[in-house]
Parts: sequence; structure tokens; C-alpha cells
Amino acid sequence: MSEPGYQAFYRVPEPQLALTSAQAARLDAETRAQVSAVAARLIGRMREHANGTGVIARFLSEYGLSSAEGVVLLSLAEAFLRIPDAFTADLLIRDKLGEADWAAHLDRSSSTLVNAATLALRAGTDLVSESARKGVLHALVRRVGRPLVRRAIGHAMGMLGRQFVLGRTIEEALERAGVATHRFRYSFDMLGEGARTRADAERYFHAYAMAIDSIGAAAGNRTGADRPGISVKLSALHPRFEPAQRTRVLQELVPVLTTLARRACNHDLAFTVDAEESERLELTLDVFAAVAALPTLDGWNGLGLAVQAYQKRAGAVIEWLDALAARTGRRIPVRLVKGAYWDSEIKRTQERGLDGYPVFTRKAATDVSYLACARVLLAAQHLVPAFATHNALTVATLLEWAGTRRDVEFQRLHGMGDGLYESLLEDNPNVNCRIYAPVGGHDDLLAYLVRRLLENGANSSFVNALQDPTTPIDQLLADPAETVIAFSGTPHPRILLPRDLYGPDRLNAAGIDLSDRMAVDRLQAAMHEVWSGRWDAHSLIDGEAAGQPPGPTCDPACLERPIGSVRMLAPPMAAAACRIGAGAQPAWNARSRHARADCLRTAADLLEARTPTFMAIAIREAGKTIPDALAEVREAVDFLRYYARQAEQALAPLDLPGPTGETNQLTYSGRGLVVCISPWNFPLAIFIGQVSAALAAGNSVIAKPAPQTSIMAHRAVRLMHEAGIPPDVLQLALGDARLGQALVAAPRVSGVVFTGSTTGAKHIERALAAINGTILPLIAETGGQNAMIVDSSALPEQVVGDLITSAFLSAGQRCSAARVLFVQDEVADAIVERLIGAMNELRLGDPAVLSTDIGPLIDGASRQRLQAHLDAMGSRVLHQLPAPAGGHFFGPALVALDDLSLLKTEVFGPVLHVVRWRAGALDVVIDQINATGYGLTLGIHSRVNSTVERVRQRACVGNLYVNRSMVGAVVGVQPFGGEGLSGTGPKAGGPNYLKRLCTERVTTVDTTSAGGNASLWTLD
Ligand SMILES: Cc1cc2nc3c(=O)[nH]c(=O)nc-3n(C[C@H](O)[C@H](O)[C@H](O)COP(=O)(O)OP(=O)(O)OC[C@H]3O[C@@H](n4cnc5c(N)ncnc54)[C@H](O)[C@@H]3O)c2cc1C
Repeated sequence: MSEPGYQAFYRVPEPQLALTSAQAARLDAETRAQVSAVAARLIGRMREHANGTGVIARFLSEYGLSSAEGVVLLSLAEAFLRIPDAFTADLLIRDKLGEADWAAHLDRSSSTLVNAATLALRAGTDLVSESARKGVLHALVRRVGRPLVRRAIGHAMGMLGRQFVLGRTIEEALERAGVATHRFRYSFDMLGEGARTRADAERYFHAYAMAIDSIGAAAGNRTGADRPGISVKLSALHPRFEPAQRTRVLQELVPVLTTLARRACNHDLAFTVDAEESERLELTLDVFAAVAALPTLDGWNGLGLAVQAYQKRAGAVIEWLDALAARTGRRIPVRLVKGAYWDSEIKRTQERGLDGYPVFTRKAATDVSYLACARVLLAAQHLVPAFATHNALTVATLLEWAGTRRDVEFQRLHGMGDGLYESLLEDNPNVNCRIYAPVGGHDDLLAYLVRRLLENGANSSFVNALQDPTTPIDQLLADPAETVIAFSGTPHPRILLPRDLYGPDRLNAAGIDLSDRMAVDRLQAAMHEVWSGRWDAHSLIDGEAAGQPPGPTCDPACLERPIGSVRMLAPPMAAAACRIGAGAQPAWNARSRHARADCLRTAADLLEARTPTFMAIAIREAGKTIPDALAEVREAVDFLRYYARQAEQALAPLDLPGPTGETNQLTYSGRGLVVCISPWNFPLAIFIGQVSAALAAGNSVIAKPAPQTSIMAHRAVRLMHEAGIPPDVLQLALGDARLGQALVAAPRVSGVVFTGSTTGAKHIERALAAINGTILPLIAETGGQNAMIVDSSALPEQVVGDLITSAFLSAGQRCSAARVLFVQDEVADAIVERLIGAMNELRLGDPAVLSTDIGPLIDGASRQRLQAHLDAMGSRVLHQLPAPAGGHFFGPALVALDDLSLLKTEVFGPVLHVVRWRAGALDVVIDQINATGYGLTLGIHSRVNSTVERVRQRACVGNLYVNRSMVGAVVGVQPFGGEGLSGTGPKAGGPNYLKRLCTERVTTVDTTSAGGNASLWTLD
């Protein structure tokens, strides 16, 4: 299938597009003056009238996001309403209110209501604060006061919500709106997004369906475009509305959307599909096009779409929609918005290391894009334009361009832009205005509320600047086109491209955009070519192929599919290999650390260029899914570049202070030959990480990978040789644990780096201790009994998403994976139910297919161990997914436990154990986790800072993840490794790793020995 034209703009560089848009948005001097005059009048009126901007807007102006108090209010609003228990609610209130300096805001607002609220917040803070004065009376007031404060905050947050939500039910909203008679048109939105389960999606479907009937019934005699409408979010209607699930989404979602659209058509209502995250755009358009093409909807012009102007593809999407409308013989209403997910678009792109952003990075660039898109929309033959904005300057420009057209509509959100549109209608009573009115209870409200608060409180936001009396009107009227032209369309200087995230000295590993169908097709084609070949791996001793006769190796996802052969090294060969390696080390060590770093950087570039090849091997040999295989290669590239940089910076000679007449210098030197033993679960990343660190520090290396992933290791070593690392400096020994033992015990080994089981590490530790002679260092990274703690302030859908990622993806075969969920009693049932629902949406199967979430286990032995564990758990198993046949698949499982002590060993696979805890028992939970003796990763989901801080202080773990998944550590960003039974440290990908692989030497020179202290004598 060919690429739709708009995709060419997905992540194009910003300047050219911003400048083209600016030219399209530019006004001649006369029009500019008219537009400014209209905008100035609107702004003036809004500022004049105390109520012109609404209480909430002024509240947010006092407590903008740049103040600590604004952030506190935002976080309180986000969490408070969903907390069911008093204990956690009180913790949150104390935590949030206590952080802020309310006194500084007293009597500062022009609104009495805002000042009264400030006073209340301050009083509330005193009541809940631990530092409030002591004494019997105070104790009494505090006891009586807490429920009071809780109720007051609940009311305040409810009020905040109601400001942006028209009603809890569609009936309530319809009544409040007075749809049949109101001068504004309405579009209702049933709040809810991001269904995670089929039940969620069905609930939202019914809510939409019922709402359509109710709106239709209440629409009265309104006709045509004047009739009310409904807006729907596709992510609410399907639990996996993701590009990777394209086939399934088209099959399942198109009929659902069709049913709703037909229903809206029967009532002749406007039916608009909202715009969501940029990576969902192509899928949204595919679903939309499929529904638009249905003959059953012929003749109906209500099917519409929202388009986000902050996206670089916006203009081209509007042209595409015009063509679709022409093709399907309909007029398509298009709602042009700027876009509500800007901050998350930036973050996600950075995390994925992509070439460029899908959105503009300067506000003015979005503004001109909006205007340029408006031009395209107004010129389109088959589209009906609707402009959704609260920006008076944008409105004034569009008013000018729309002229006397009657089919143009302006739209605002309920709770925003009231003053603007009242004022607009005063001067232009014929202008059509529609209010987008969200409907829903507080469970569904929060994500929406936070977006609105962010929008109102952001410095860049027009409504925020309008509120601030110190913002001069000229600033509000500044022409965005001139602004963009003045900075030549360049991106925001503080929003670096993902590639440059780590500064000029280290490139970020390049990602592949898996949301881009064409990029995926190219990747698949490249991988298929690799898969069509056979891979034969052998040990590499002094650059020569070595090993016993080849043995076959199979794909763990399909045991019938041989993928190549492997020649293992016989253990007696270990000593000879070690002699060669030890002999080669001095010359390698004598190279400058810059020369060694250059080899690693060359290897990184080669690896990056061959990403599809290494992904293809990871998929077939290790059973990695496509996203996991990509992450694997990126991590390896990051390790190479990170340790190259570390060698240059951290291993630089250090001049030390001392008495005059003497120099003292500390230098670092490689230790000798290091044996690197790596696991199969990160066959490239950990393998390369260990090897590159040892090499960077000046050591020679014998690498012994896990036998299951020998092919990957063989390819990686050949690549390192190609990058300039001498074959005697880096040797590859393929084999099992017996070979590992032989290497560790071989003469002339100077250190061991090991990643694997705790038992394996203990064996090595004992073997090294038994060696008579040098005391040898061991860096061991081992397993964990990793837990995630969830309290009742956490956002359930986020928790569920992060648990799926942390416990089940990668078939749970990460040492960092979540093994135990500690969930607070009050929310446990709901979370477990949703978790089961979300598990049911996972797809197990061939990891080479993009829609597969979970591939196979590495081998039959792993599967047997997991099965034996589940058998032992018996009736405690709450849920397990079925596993496909043909490979080492194992269905993810959920197991209920009363107590963590029932879990004796690490369960390495997709099994999550659930333990409940009572509010107030956080310390007991932490004690249980510490008592396991492991200390690798820990997750905490809580909105209460003091809870997070308590966990941080008391939990003995290497990596703590707060309000996110607990896997996927990034090199140099989250240095990784545990303590106790989980490893020796130092952390991989961290600043202390290389030094552990070096010896330190200090040279002291008496500079006076040859004739006195000249430097002292020559002082002035
Ligand atoms: C009726 C209606 C329906 C809506 N439906 C949707 C929808 O389906 N999907 C959706 O995403 N949003 C939707 N929105 C929300 C909409 O995106 C925001 O309300 C809108 O962006 C605010 O723009 P403004 O012109 O009112 O304000 P302005 O203050 O002029 O613009 C704010 C916007 O500028 C952009 N911006 C801010 N900083 C930067 C920066 N540094 N670089 C680049 N851009 C920046 C962001 O888009 C931000 O929201 C809807 C809004 C309305 C009124």
C-alpha cells in the first residue's frame, strides 16, 4: 500500500515548514491593522469586565503553572477526587497544601472569590500541617478539622471539575445547556479516553450511544448545522487503539464507529472524531476513511474530524480530507484545533530517539500553522470549516478571512473563552458558535481536567497571558507570522532534537518510528532479507574460527524452524585463549584512551547502521518482539558511545594537590584480561555493555555469552573487530556454564564481569576466592524480587499500563521486571479487575509480527520452571492467558499471595504476584521487600510525595521508579544495578563502572631533586 501524502510531513525539519506557514499566514498592513483593532477590542472588553474571563481563569492566573502553588493545585486536582480512603486523602492534602506558600497570594487577586479561596487554602494548611502549634485545643481543632478540610477540598476540586464539565450525566448536561433554544450550538463529549479493557470500551460505547439518542431527542426544531452534535474519542472505543494493532483495529473499530455514526445520522447530529496523539493520526484517518466510504451514510454531512495544527502534517491532512470528501460525495466538517498533547508529544519523541518532532516546538509556529491550515480549510471545496480556539487574535484573523461565509463556525470549550465569545457575538450576532461540552463523573474527568488546567496555566497560553494584567496588549497582539519570520522558523533552542539529548559529546541512539507504517514496512523488508539466510556462529580465538563440530539452533517461537548452527568451545581450550588475551592486553592498554574510544564509537556507528540485521537476530534467536529488539540495539549503541565518552572523561589523569616541589598524578590503567559472562535476555545490550566497558578501560576481553544467544554474540564480536578492535584483544568463547567455569579459573585472568543468576554469581565468587594468587575483582549483576507498590492515590489506568509493561512484556524475562504488586486494599479489586481485562487484550505469538506483544520464553527449561511454580501456587492463580503452541510460549499469569514470604525465589517470567496492604502499613510493606535480601528495582505509584519519599529513604534497591513502568533503564540516564542479592555494583551505564575495571596508579615526582625548587624561587 502506498504512503498517504501527508505522511511525508510527519517529522520534517521545522524551519522550512514554519516559514512556509508564516508566509501563508502573513497579512498585508491594512488587514493587519483591522485584525489588530478587532482583537484589541475583544481583549479590552474581556479585561474590562471582571467576569469576562471567568473565576477559574483568574484563579489560574493567580496560581499559574510557574508558581509552586499552581503545580500543587494541579496535582491535588489530578488525584484528590479518586482517593476512596480518608487516610490517603489526608496524606495527599498535607503533602500538597504544606508545600505551598499561600500567604504570598493573600489578597493579590482582583477577584474576591479567588482571595477567599486563598484564605481557605491557608487555613486548611494550618489545620493539616504537622508543624501546627501543639496543645490540647489545637489537637482538638485538628481532629475535628481534618474531615472538614477533606470535605472542603473535595468541594473545591469538584467545583474546578464542574467548571470544565457541563454535567455528570448527559441528561444533566442537556438540561444545563438548554440545547433546543440556546444561542450557542453544542457538541457533547462523553469523557473518557484510553480504554484499557474491552469492558471499558463497551462502557464508553454505550455512553456514546445513549448520549446520541438523548441529544437527538433534546435537539428540538433545530435544523442543519444548527443542530447539536457529539464528539468521540477513538481511544475510548477500542482497548488497543495503537498503530501496531492496525489490522485488528480496522476490523473491530470500524463497525463500532459505524454504528455510532449511523445513530447520529438518524438524529441528524454532527458527529466529530476528536484528534489524539500524533502516532494515532494515520490510524484515525484510516478508520475515518473506512466509515466515510460507507454507502449507508451517503447524503449525510455530519461526519467530521478534528485536525491539530501543531502537527506538521496538518495542512496536508486537510487536503487529504478534501479529496476524501470529494471521493465519497459528502461534505466533511473539519474542526481545526491547535492541539492538546504538546508536552507529551515532545517527551515521547525524545524517549524514542526519533529524527524529529511531529509537532512544532514554538508557540508562534503553531499559531501560524493554525492560520495556514485555516486558509487551506477555507479554500477547500468539500469541507465545512470550524475553528476551535480561545485566542482573540486568532479569532480576529479568521473573522476577517471568513468574511460573510455562513457555513463557518467558531468553537470553544465549556468553561473557557466565555468572555471572548460573548463579546464576539455582541459585535457579530450572525457568527455561528458552538460549545464543546464534556460530560462525565469524576472518574472520567481527571485526564481532561489536567489538560485544561495545563492549557489555562501555561505561560505560552493566550488565556493565561490575557489574565495577567502585566502582559502588555501589544504582546497579545504580536503577529505570529512576523515572530516566526524573525527567528527564521528555527525550533525552540531549549527543545533539543532527540539525537542531541545527551549533549555534543554523545549522540543518542537512533530509533525507528514504529508508528509509521512505511518505516515499519522498510524495516520488515530488511529483516526478511536477513531471515532468508542461515547463521553459523563459531568461537573466535585470536581471530580464528574455533570450536567443536556445529550443533543446530532453533527459533524459540517455532521449534520446527532451524536458524543456524553454533560451534562451542571445549572447556580445555579456555586456558590457551586466556594466554592469548592476556598477552595482547599491554599493547591495547598502551593505546591512548581516545584511540580506544574511537574504536567503540566506530562500532556504535556500524551497529546503528545495521539495526535491522541485529533486530532480526534478536527476534529469531532470542524471541524478542519488534519493539524489544529495537530497544535492544539502541541500548547497545548507547553503551558503546557512553563508555567511549567515559573513557575520555572519567579516566583522564588526575593532578593531585601537594607540597611545592612535587607533582602527584593519579592515572588509570587496564587490569589485564577480563572475562565477560553475559545472559540471553539482553543478548546484545548486556553483551556489548560488559565488553565495551572492559575494553574502554584498557583490558583485553574473553566474552562468553549464554549458549542460547551465541549467534548474536558472534555477529557482535565480528562487528567490533571490523571497528578496529584487534582479534586477540577481543575473543569469543561460545559455550555453557562449564566453559564459564573454566574461563574464570584460568590463569592470567584479571577480573570477571558477570550478569545472570545470584547462584551463578556466588559460584564465580567462590571460584575466584579459591584462586591462589592475585585477589580478583568481580562485578556481578543478578536478579531481583522486584515489587511495585501502589496506593489509592495512583491513577488506575496508568498503574495497569505500567504493570503490563513491567510484568508481562518481554515475557517477563528482564531482571528488572515486576514480580510482585503490593496494592492498597481500597483499590485492589478495581485494579486487579482492570489488570485482568488488559491482560486479555495482549497478543502472544510470533515476535516477528508487529502486533505481537509477547513472544516465547527462551527455552523449554524456563517453561518447565514456570509451570512448576504455577502448579505449586494452585488455587492462588487468579488468571492466566492461554499460550500458543509450537514454541516455548507461556501465558502471563496473575497469582494472589497473602504474604511475600511465600515467594522463595525469583520467578523469571511473566508471572505477577499480588499482595494487598492496608493504608498506614507502608513501612510493613517496605520491610517485607527489604527482607527478601534482593535489591534491584522497585516501583511506586502514588501521588503523595511523602509516601514516595518514605519509600525512597527506606527501600534498599538500586533503581526506584516513581509513577512509571519499572523497566527500560537508559544508559547514562538511569544507571542500572542492584544491591544485596541483586549485585555488587557499580551500576552498568553509570559513571563509576569503568573505574572498577581499572587499576589506579599514583606517580609522585620530587621536582626539586635535580637542583632545587625553581618554581618557588621564581615567585614574584
Ligand atoms: C471545541 C474544541 C475542541 C477541541 N478538540 C480537540 C481535539 O480533538 N484534540 C486536541 O488535541 N485538542 C482539542 N482541543 C483543545 C485545543 O487543542 C486547545 O484548546 C487549543 O490548543 C488551545 O488553543 P488556543 O488557540 O485556544 O490557545 P493558544 O494559547 O493560542 O494556543 C495554545 C496552544 O499552542 C500550542 N503550543 C503551546 N506551546 C507551544 C510550543 N512551545 N510549541 C508549539 N506549540 C505550542 C499548543 O497546542 C497549545 O494548546 C479542542 C478545543 C476546542 C475549543
